[in-house]
Amino acid sequence: MAPRARAGLWRRGGNVLKISFHGADREVTGSCHLLQAAGKRILIDCGFYQGSRRLDEENGRELGFDAGSVDFLLLTHAHLDHCGRIPLLVKRGFRGEIVATVATRELARVVMLDATHLQEEEHKRELRHAERRGEAETSPAPLYMLVDTLNAFDRFGRNAVYRQPLPLADGLVATFHDSGHILGSASVAIEAEGRKIVFSGDLGNPGRPLLRDPDPPQGADVAVMESTYGDRRHKGLGESLAEFYEALNIAFHAGGNVIIPTFALERAQELLFWIRDGVETNKLSPAMHLFLDSPMAISATEIFARYPDEQSPVVAKLLAKGVDPFAPPNLKFTRERAESEALNRVSGGAVILAGSGMATGGRVVHHLRHNLGRPAASVIFVGFAAKGTLAREIIDGARAVRVLGDEIRVRARIHTINGFSAHADQAELMDWHARVGAPRTFLTHGEPAAMQALAVKLKGEIAMPAFADGFEL
Ligand code: ZN
Repeated sequence: MAPRARAGLWRRGGNVLKISFHGADREVTGSCHLLQAAGKRILIDCGFYQGSRRLDEENGRELGFDAGSVDFLLLTHAHLDHCGRIPLLVKRGFRGEIVATVATRELARVVMLDATHLQEEEHKRELRHAERRGEAETSPAPLYMLVDTLNAFDRFGRNAVYRQPLPLADGLVATFHDSGHILGSASVAIEAEGRKIVFSGDLGNPGRPLLRDPDPPQGADVAVMESTYGDRRHKGLGESLAEFYEALNIAFHAGGNVIIPTFALERAQELLFWIRDGVETNKLSPAMHLFLDSPMAISATEIFARYPDEQSPVVAKLLAKGVDPFAPPNLKFTRERAESEALNRVSGGAVILAGSGMATGGRVVHHLRHNLGRPAASVIFVGFAAKGTLAREIIDGARAVRVLGDEIRVRARIHTINGFSAHADQAELMDWHARVGAPRTFLTHGEPAAMQALAVKLKGEIAMPAFADGFEL
C-alpha cells in the first residue's frame, strides 16, 4: 500500500479522515501519530527516540507537521518513548488540550521532569569536558528546558476514564480502554465520520498480578498497532520468576553487588512486588540490602500507592490490608545524589535497582562503571534492550564496553531474564487484533523483522508505514 500524500502537504479542513506517522515507524521508540478527523487534528502520543547514538538529532528533527495546528494530544501512557517530546511540541507552538488518564498524567509529569533534568545534566557534563580539554563548546543545547516542561503541564486538560466516551468536538469522540501495559495505560478508540480508528498504545500481557488484562476496543475499522514482540513468544511468568529468584540468590551469595537496570515505571514496582513476595514465601533471603536508586522510580512508586482504585485486584487487596506491596524488608530509597554516590564505595552485598532500563543514561550507568569489572558482582537484566544501547551490548556478550568514556572489561556475572516483558507477545498481539476486528491495520512500534513476522499472521490489509507517510482512511 503506497502512501497517498506526504503529511506535510495536507491543509486543515475538509471532512476527510487522514492519518500520518511521525515516530516509532519501523522502530520501537518515538511514538507519534497524527489523525485528521472532523476538521480537527489529533495527535496520539509524542514520544522520545531512545537508544540511538544520534538521539539529539532524531528527537530534534522536524516533526513533519505544524505543532501549532494540533488541537488535541491523546496520551496513551507515561513511558518516555510516548511522552518525551511533548515539551518540544509545546516549545514549537502546540496550544491544544492533552487528554490522558489521571495516573498517566501524574506519571508523565515525573517522566518529563526527569527527561528535562537528564538533558540538562548531560549538557553540563559535555560543557565541563570541553572546558577541561580546552576545546570550544560544541555540544547542542538541550531540546527543551524546564520552562517548556512546565508549560506542557498546563496543557493537560480533561482526565480520561476507561470505557467512558469523551466528546472532543462536534462529531469526534475518544474512548480510552485499559491496555494492561503500565499503570494508567490505554488503547484509544476515536469515532468520527461514521468510522472507528483504534490506537493500541503499548499492549501488556494478560494475567499479570500488578495490572488488569488488556481490554480491546471492539468493532474498529482501522487499527494502529504496536508490534514490539511481533516475532516472539514469552516464557511463562512462573518460569521467569523462578529464574529471577535463582539469579538473585546466586548473585547475592557471590558476595558482590547486584545491579538491576530497570525501567522506573511499572518494572521497578513489579520487581519490588516480586522481591517482597519472594521474601515472604522464603524464596529470597530477608538479609538482602535493597536500594531503589532512581528518583523517578521512587516518585512513581509513591504515585502507585496513591491510586488504589487504578490498581489490579491483587494490589488493591494488599493495600486494603495495610500491606505496602512495593516495600520488601531492608528497602532504602536513595533519592539524593550523594546517597547514590555513596553506593559507589560499597563493594559487596547491595542489590541496586536503578534506571535507565536500557542503561542509556541515569544512575545505573555509574553503578555499571563501578561494578562491571568486579568478578563477584552481578548484573541482572530484566527488560527489553534496543539495538545500540549499553544494555544490549552487555546482553549480547561484549567482553569490554565503553561506559562514561572509560573502557571497562566485563568480569561481572551477567543474567538475562526475558519473561518480565510489559509487552504482549505474538500470540497476545494476534488475540488483541482479532478482538478489535479491524479490516485495515497499520503496524508501528516494532523493529522490521518483528513487524514482518506479525504482519503475515494478521487478517486484513496490513501496512508498515515509514516516517511522514500519510494515508486517507
Ligand atoms: Zn510503554
